[in-house]
Order: sequence, then structure tokens, then C-alpha cells
Amino acid sequence: MKRILITGGAGFIGSHLSKRLLDEGNDVICLDNFFTGSKDNIRELLQNDHFELVRHDVTKEYFAEVDEIYNLACPASPPHYQYNAIKTIKTSILGMINMLGLAKRCKARILQASTSEVYGDPMVHPQKEEYWGNVNPIGIRSCYDEGKRCAETLMMDYHRQNNVDIRIIRIFNTYGPNMHPNDGRVVSNFIVQALQNKDITIYGDGSQTRSFCYVDDLVEGMIRMMNNKEGFIGPVNLGNPSERTILEFAQLIIKLTNSNSKIINKPLPKDDPARRRPDISLAKEKLDWKPKTDIEEGLLKTIEYFEKKLELNR
Ligand code: NAD
Ligand code: UDP
Repeated sequence: MKRILITGGAGFIGSHLSKRLLDEGNDVICLDNFFTGSKDNIRELLQNDHFELVRHDVTKEYFAEVDEIYNLACPASPPHYQYNAIKTIKTSILGMINMLGLAKRCKARILQASTSEVYGDPMVHPQKEEYWGNVNPIGIRSCYDEGKRCAETLMMDYHRQNNVDIRIIRIFNTYGPNMHPNDGRVVSNFIVQALQNKDITIYGDGSQTRSFCYVDDLVEGMIRMMNNKEGFIGPVNLGNPSERTILEFAQLIIKLTNSNSKIINKPLPKDDPARRRPDISLAKEKLDWKPKTDIEEGLLKTIEYFEKKLELNR
């Protein structure tokens, strides 16, 4: 049994990771300031004696004896990370420094939840790990993108200078149950709009692309990366390479929810990446990992979750 700290453990991905690691017989400390996370996501886990919930902000130091740290604390949706941009960058950088300090003291292995946003609006397609990216350092997405890029730098420097045992994953758009209904990301927005027969808001003309990964597949990849014994530190892309336009995605959601919603267009936010698809050959080679869940299967589970969450009896 390992003692595992998950920062951001009450969030969307963190809650699934917490459950999976508890099911595997570990002790889990879930640390969260509840900025975008929710007790609802972890309510059933609170019954488990091996689960401990700590209300704490990663920008402040935290001490505990742990074997592993998954550092997920950071708002992930553009409206949430732009709400208080300075706080977002502090969370990524001060949070990373605090968690790396903890990992160094405890000799714990630490995994950083980095992001496809380190590639910015990519000039290379699909994105491979060796691509350095095309990121605007002064735009409205920079607090998130540059914060995550600097966090990767900190991971590498603690590794080179202090021998900290690190793992870096770059997560591409992930979806599933426990996303917040008002999260502002495309999956939750479209499903909530479709279930309520409200207009589906496409930003721009909908020709931009994304590649969506179901959360269970991602969590499997995260755990394989943490546990890999070859000393493979990454960075490694984790995502589903099945790419579609946002317009195609809206049409798929309308079909799966059997909705009467109409599609409307709204202005495209600044610096919105035009295309995104992970090249996952490195994850296949090093972790023997690839996503298994078909998009329709994953979306139907997510739709069911939102129906319950919104108390819709359709
Ligand atoms: P989320 O917003 O649901 O979860 C983030 C969690 O971190 C929340 O519980 C929030 O309350 C907590 N948090 C935020 N600031 C904090 C702070 N200062 N101190 C303590 N806790 C704090 O988002 P998510 O989708 O679950 O994302 C989890 C991680 O994965 C994030 O680091 C995100 O950048 C990364 N990621 C997610 C995606 C995705 O598609 N979901 C893609 C790329 C990267
Ligand atoms: N998007 C949209 N309508 C929405 C929310 C998002 O058209 O209601 C678009 C957004 O402009 C982007 C894509 O969907 O091109 C994915 O957005 P999201 O915020 O989910 O994540 P991103 O990958 O941009 O961080």
C-alpha cells in the first residue's frame, strides 16, 4: 500500500484518479481549495477510511509523509483560469515549487499534470513531444500556458539538480462524468445546452478541431506513467488522437441527446488553437497505452451523468 497525495483531487480528473487509487488499495490524501472542485465529486470516497480530505491551497507549503504525488491543482477551463489570471499562474508555479519541495524532502515520486496547451496554437500537426510549441507569452491564455510550461521547467530542474523522481504527462482534452456543469469547456457546455434544448454556442465557425479522450482512459495512462519502472520521465502526450471539428462535435451531441437545440455562432476567443491532435506513439511505445473508449460510448456515460446532475427527467 502506498500513501499518495493528489492535489486538485476534488476536481474532475482528480476525483476519478482518487477513486481508482483507493480501489487499488492505496491511502489517498486529496488536497483541494475547492475553487473549481466539489465535495460532490468525492462524496462517496469520504466513507473510505483510506481517504483523507484536506482543504488547502497549493500556493502555500504543505507537509505530509507520502510516497507519490499527483499534482493536478489548477483550474483547467479557459473561463475559470482567466477569472483570476494571477492566481492561476501562482497556482502553477508556487504550487509546483511547493510540491517539488515536498517530493524532495520525502523522496516521493511526483507526476505533473501538464497540458497540450504547452504547444499553444501549434504549427506542427499532430503534436509530438519534441515540438516546442507556438505560445503567445502575453495573451489571455498565457497565465495557463506559460504557468504550465514553467512548471515543466521546474520539474526538469529539480530532477537535474536535486535528483527528484519526476514524471511529466501532457493531457489533451479529456471529458467524462464529474465535469462541472458550468465549467465553460466545450463538452460540458454543449451537453448541458443540448439537454435543456438551448442554443448550442459554437465559438467562431466551428472549423477548429479538438481530439477528445474519455477520463477512464486518461487515468489508466496516468497510473502507468507514475508506475513505469524504466525511469521514463516524459514528457509524454496522453490523449485520444480521434480528431473532429467543433461543428461536427456539436452535431454529434445533438444526435446523442436527441435534442431540438439549434446551433448558433459566437465570437472566437483570442488565441484559440485552430487544430489539436496528439501523436501518442511515445505513450504506446513506453507505456503500452492507448485509449480504448469510443467517443459515442464515453459521451453517453457523460450525458447520463449530466442528466442526473441537472435532475432532468427526460
Ligand atoms: P478541474 O478544474 O476540475 O480540477 C482542478 C482542481 O484543482 C479543482 O478541484 C480545483 O478546486 C483545484 N485547485 C485549483 N487551484 C487550486 C489551488 N490553488 N490549490 C488547491 N487546489 C486547487 O480540472 P481538471 O480537468 O480535473 O484538470 C486537472 C488537471 O489536469 C489540471 O492541472 C489541468 O490543467 C490538467 N489538464 C486537464 C485537461 C482536461 O482536458 N481536463 C487537459 C489538460 C490538462
Ligand atoms: N468552444 C465552443 N463553444 C463553447 C465552448 C468552447 O465552440 O461553448 C470551443 C472553443 O472555442 C475551443 C474548443 O471549443 O475551440 C474547445 O474549448 P475548451 O474550452 O473545451 O478547451 P480548449 O481546448 O480550448 O482549452
